[in-house]
Amino acid sequence: MTKIDPKKQNAIPFKAETKQLLDILINSLYSDRDIFLRELISNASDAITRINFEMLTNHNIVDPDFTPAIHITMDKEAGTLLVTDNGIGMNAEEMVDNLGTIAKSGARSFLEATKDKPEGTANDLIGQFGVGFYAAFMIAEWIDVTSRSYRPEDTAAKWHSTGSGSFTISEADKTSRGSEILIKLKEDAKEYLDEFRLKEIIRKHSNYIPYPIFVGDSKE
Ligand code: ADP
Ligand code: MG
Repeated sequence: MTKIDPKKQNAIPFKAETKQLLDILINSLYSDRDIFLRELISNASDAITRINFEMLTNHNIVDPDFTPAIHITMDKEAGTLLVTDNGIGMNAEEMVDNLGTIAKSGARSFLEATKDKPEGTANDLIGQFGVGFYAAFMIAEWIDVTSRSYRPEDTAAKWHSTGSGSFTISEADKTSRGSEILIKLKEDAKEYLDEFRLKEIIRKHSNYIPYPIFVGDSKE
């Protein structure tokens, strides 16, 4: 596991293949950008499933009494979209390992499938493979992930990146367990501030999610 000191602002380069993936995503003309939300909701859902599983054997966790929930809120003035969950959370090291590499993601198969293929191939395959968390960089100027893991001894941490080259890890003061993905939307992605647009995407792409998803302050 990567050892880092969240008290410092750590600038950490993305692994080469992550950079490659981010370049493709940021520069692609892929039109179904909506799938970014499916990826974030599926990660939130996975995180809740993981804490439920942990709780079968471990009761020494942060926030043991909770009702699973995924919240999506929009700040029109700031131009930001926030996706939160009360799942298993991540500490600083886990953020470095999980959001700096593509080790566990469908993204690897995507890169392999597009390698040495003609231009445009990547565009056709983004939706098929599900490129995971990084899909959000299709619509983001920058992303902050603030998270607190389920382990009482862990401190909260914040991951920040514009998707180009590196990310930073710093301390955060989140006290509740789970993750908050804050996305500063690109100028041409402001459609994702619209509640009805988001609900439509959720109905289309995240129908199978077993936990309640709240958009704005209404239940989807
Ligand atoms: P995958 O979901 O296929 O593993 P992703 O790129 O979507 O790939 O996510 C990478 C990893 O980051 C996940 O496996 C998980 O460990 C971590 N992660 C992402 N989002 C969250 C979240 N909301 N809560 C906890 N961990 C997360
Ligand atoms: Mg995922």
